[in-house]
Amino acid sequence: MSAVASYDLATLVERVRGQSGGEVDRSVPALASADPDLIAVALVGTDGEIAASEDAGVPFSLQSAVKPFLFALALADTDGAALDRVGIEPTGEAFDAIKLESGTGRPPNPMVNAGALLTASLVDGHDVAGRDERILRGLSAFAGRSLEVDEEIARDEHLLGDRNHALAHLMRSEGTLRVTADDAVAVYARACAVLVDARALAVMGATLAGGGRNPVTGERVVPAAVARDVVSVMATCGVYDGSGRWMRSVGIPAKSSVSGALVLAVPGVLGAAMISPPLDARGTSVRGHAAADILSADLGLHAFGRPSSV
Ligand code: GLN
Repeated sequence: MSAVASYDLATLVERVRGQSGGEVDRSVPALASADPDLIAVALVGTDGEIAASEDAGVPFSLQSAVKPFLFALALADTDGAALDRVGIEPTGEAFDAIKLESGTGRPPNPMVNAGALLTASLVDGHDVAGRDERILRGLSAFAGRSLEVDEEIARDEHLLGDRNHALAHLMRSEGTLRVTADDAVAVYARACAVLVDARALAVMGATLAGGGRNPVTGERVVPAAVARDVVSVMATCGVYDGSGRWMRSVGIPAKSSVSGALVLAVPGVLGAAMISPPLDARGTSVRGHAAADILSADLGLHAFGRPSSV
């Protein structure tokens, strides 16, 4: 049995269950009413092996865990030209900071809200419905199953996302966003509202870890060069102003989100996903981070943790 299939996820979940602290996000009603006690973890090897804890089928919205995949689709659909329109430097600031790259007016990176509003505007599609459709189809290919949008969450995020509207207007005034601000927020809000579960999100991570090929369905979803770019930017920017701390302790490229989801990609090895709604001050799941620490240590997954031979 592979290291993925034989990993004891039930014990991992029990080890982090007692970890206290964190607050559930309150930006929209559906997130505010999330079960703070939910914890689920799933692993998917790049060979297609799957391990999933008991609640790995419980649905939640992707929120910012969608950002690596929006970046991937934008890179694939523009043949890499998306890199001219969005930076790739970490900000050291919150995910919704009202700030663009100085001098260029571009969003700083695709993992913060400004960047994801922009990448979502770059995917194929002539209008909002076309881009929505492309994103849902692309995310479903990453997950290896047909995903759906939670319409109530999409509507609330579109209506209540004042900072996202502000960011879209700012990018529009800089000439970096070329669709209307409202269209940009509408598409991004729907992408954030796509429902997954830990198992599906782990398959999405494993597709990035597998160089853009879904290890469960065998489908090539994005080119290998795109997957490499996406995982690189997850490593430096995926946990916002907590990215340095995250890389030091977990050492795995990842993306956090306000639903309490985390998606991780270890190239050539596995994808992983965790969900636990209480968040720390940087918007990272407290128990998810603890689970990732343990997983990384148990399986020796830290990118810089290999024993030195000299
Ligand atoms: N939909 C959320 C927002 O735009 C996503 C933010 C996040 O998960 N960090 O505010």
